[in-house]
Formats: sequence, structure tokens, C-alpha cells
Amino acid sequence: MSYIALYRKYRPQNFDDVVGQDHIIKALRNQVINNKVAHAYLFCGSRGTGKTTTARIFAKAINCLNPVNGSPCGKCEVCKALSHGEQFDIIEIDAASNNGVDDARALRESVRFLPVIGKKKVFIIDEVHMLSTSAFNALLKTIEEPPEHVVFILGTTEIQKIPSTILSRLMRFDFHLLAVSEIEQIIKKILDNDKVVFENDAVNMVARAAEGSVRDALSVLDACLAYNPGNLTVSSVVDVLGIVGRDRVLEIIENIIDNNLKSMLLSLDNLLVSGKSPLVMCKELMSCLCDLMVVETLGSSSKNMLQFDDAVFSKYEKIAKKSGKNILLKIIDSLGNLEAELRLSVQPKIVLEMALFKAVNAVNKEENISNNPGSTMTEKKKDDIKDKNYLGQILHFLRESGKMQLFSAFSEVGSLEKVNDFLVGTGSIITKNIIDSKKAEIFGVLKDLKIKDIIINVEKNKKDLAEVSELKKLFGEAFEEEE
Ligand SMILES: [Zn+2]
Repeated sequence: MSYIALYRKYRPQNFDDVVGQDHIIKALRNQVINNKVAHAYLFCGSRGTGKTTTARIFAKAINCLNPVNGSPCGKCEVCKALSHGEQFDIIEIDAASNNGVDDARALRESVRFLPVIGKKKVFIIDEVHMLSTSAFNALLKTIEEPPEHVVFILGTTEIQKIPSTILSRLMRFDFHLLAVSEIEQIIKKILDNDKVVFENDAVNMVARAAEGSVRDALSVLDACLAYNPGNLTVSSVVDVLGIVGRDRVLEIIENIIDNNLKSMLLSLDNLLVSGKSPLVMCKELMSCLCDLMVVETLGSSSKNMLQFDDAVFSKYEKIAKKSGKNILLKIIDSLGNLEAELRLSVQPKIVLEMALFKAVNAVNKEENISNNPGSTMTEKKKDDIKDKNYLGQILHFLRESGKMQLFSAFSEVGSLEKVNDFLVGTGSIITKNIIDSKKAEIFGVLKDLKIKDIIINVEKNKKDLAEVSELKKLFGEAFEEEE
């Protein structure tokens, strides 16, 4: 048996199964129950919100011999005939491919024929905004004075393209985008039914990625289950969507806030090496930062708004509390033009790294400003931040001037302590050699910082050396170019 897409397999067959459009379903049910069906409807709304599905159910309900609470019974001979594909009384027309005046005229002819088995002949015209002006004019006459046995249901995603003469003759229903929780509900029902094991976080990611469209949600779900059958996991969703995933993005943001350059660069590089696109990462970073702002501003009342579960919310809350609003704004500010820059750049990886680097620097400055006299921070802590800032400024200069070998060496040093007019740090013998031999290249920066010299003490242990080789791997290309 050939595979049926989830969206088709689980297409609702009656009003009870339609999720998220209660205001519309209630009105349509009542019209069937009270036998007050109008002669022309307009269903408008974004793609994947259930317009065609609802139109089909409504068309069946109109014709059903014994509707149950306004829904098609599914048992009477009309329902059976219609669900076997004998759709002689429900005619679906795609206006995108039948948009000429001749098509409209043909339609006008066919409305004359009486229904074959049902009570009404229902014409469902999808994407009706694609009709040409003359086709609309030809259709207008039919819609104005339709025969008793005809019902029109017009569907569109672009209401503004429909002439007002037509609009004024239709009963209009607006389908809205579904909430994340509504899409989650649909996905979980399907997964339970198909006996698929799932992680709640994975379901949430699929629902969010769909941006309100059930069809998009189910096609992502299809892809995830093809990739990893029988089990919906966060990692399979991450792979299928090509996204980085919330945890990794939060990790990078937390590194920025903690001023932890080394881990930030390493985790960024891991992601880029594994093939994640800098542009996708940028979008995810921004979306995570915005969510953090919302959490910071609204506190626990943001939990429902963002539709996070407890575990996810507490992760966000922890980071938002730690950073505070000013720092988040600084980071957002320094990444503000990143997306546009990435689109234009031929070296998006470097652009992304630079931007994150600036973000770290901006956070540093912000911390120094808020750390003025009168604050409760200890002298020791103040000095820490200042020292980190020396390293930050040196790294910033090296990155901007493309001195990658020195950059990687200083990244490995990790922290610099100011002793009188000197900066002192520790690193492996390789690091020391690189910095000592190329010191002349940073004299300018040192002068600006009013530092006489940098002294690197050798600390020989395996861990350091392992990290150096990791950084060498990370900046390998730059090494080669410089030689
Ligand atoms: Zn029926």
C-alpha cells in the first residue's frame, strides 16, 4: 500500500474533528440544524488553516439525510456515496488553473443541472482570488441570482484581491492561524493513534515551526517520522528542520552573558562544522532573545503567552534573571543588522562570529557601566570584569584585523590579570611562543590600554594542550593563510 501523507490521512471527516475554528464551526452547524443554509460563502484565511476541509464537511452536512448535531452522519446513502468519491453533487474547482472567462461561463452552465443524489449542488472554488476580472464578472451574475439548488463556497488566502461587488454578496468567515497548543493537540492525537513514541519538547518544536498552519505542521511531522520512524525526538526535529535547537542557542546566549568567549566560540564552531547555516542560527538567536525579553519583562505570566512547559520556562527564567533587561537589549542591539549582513556576505561564518564577538564586548561594557561606585559588587569582582575586558578588547582588535593566529592563542589564555602595568596570563608553551613571537602586532592596542607588556606563564598540562589543538583545528585555515 502506498504511503498516505498525514495531512490527508487525518483530514477531519466531521465538524467534531476540526480544531481551532470554533467560531466558524458553531455557525455552520447551526445553519445545517436550522436548515438556513445561505447560497454563497467566503472562507478566508492563511494556508493550512482548514478552509477546504471545512468546506468539504459543510458540503456533506448540507446534503446528509440525517445530520448529527449539524455534522454529516457518515452512514446515510448520500454520505456513503460522497465519501466513496462519487462527488457529483460536490464540485471542487481550483481557480488557480481555471481562471478564465470561459471557465466561469462553463460554471454558469453547469449550475443549471439539478443535484444527482443530494439536496444541493455545492461548488467549492479554491483560491478564488486567482480569477480574472472578466471571470469575476461572469460569476457575479450567478452568485447574485443562483438557482435554489446551488451553494457556493469560495476559498481564498488573499481577501484584498476579491472585488467588493463579489464580497458584498457572500457570507464571510475568517479562519485564523492556530495556536501552538492547538497544533500540539492535533499532533499528539495523531502520534498516539499511530503508536509513535514522542518527546513533548519535540512536539512543541514542530508546532512552533508550523507558524499556525496544520498542513505545515503535519508535513514537518511526516518528514520527521520518515527520518526516524516510530519515535519523534528533539534531535530528529532539529535535523529535519536544519535548525540549531533551543538548548544550543540558549547555551550560546548564556556564554555571551557569562563572558565565556572560549566556550562560545567552540560551541559555535561545532554547530557550523556540523553544517548549520549561519542565517538559520541568526534567526534562532533573535527569536530566543526576544523570548528572553518577554520572560524578563512579564515574569511568570509570560509562560502561557510563549506556550512553554515548566522545564523550558525555568531555563529561560534563569537566563533572563541572570542577564537583566539592559544586557539582553545590548545583545539584541549588537545582532540587529546581522540577518541583513549575512544575506549579503560571502563569508557568513565570519560575519556571525564577529557579531557574537561584538555582543560579548557590548555586554562587557554594560557590566562596567552598571558596576559604578555605589553598586554592591565587591572590589574583586570589579577587577575581574575589568581584566576580562582587557582580554576582550585585545581579542576584538585581533578579530577585526584578521590576526587569527594571535586570536586563537589569546582565546586559549582565557583570562588576563593586571599586575601594575602588565597583563599576566597562563597558557601552554605553544601559546606562549605564538604570543611572544608576534607581540609587536599588538603594541598599538597595549599602548591604548596603557599596558606596558603581556607576560604569559607556561602552565603545562594535558588539558591545555588538548584545547590548543582544538583551537588550531578551529582556526586551521587562518593558520595556513598567514604562513
Ligand atoms: Zn449522512
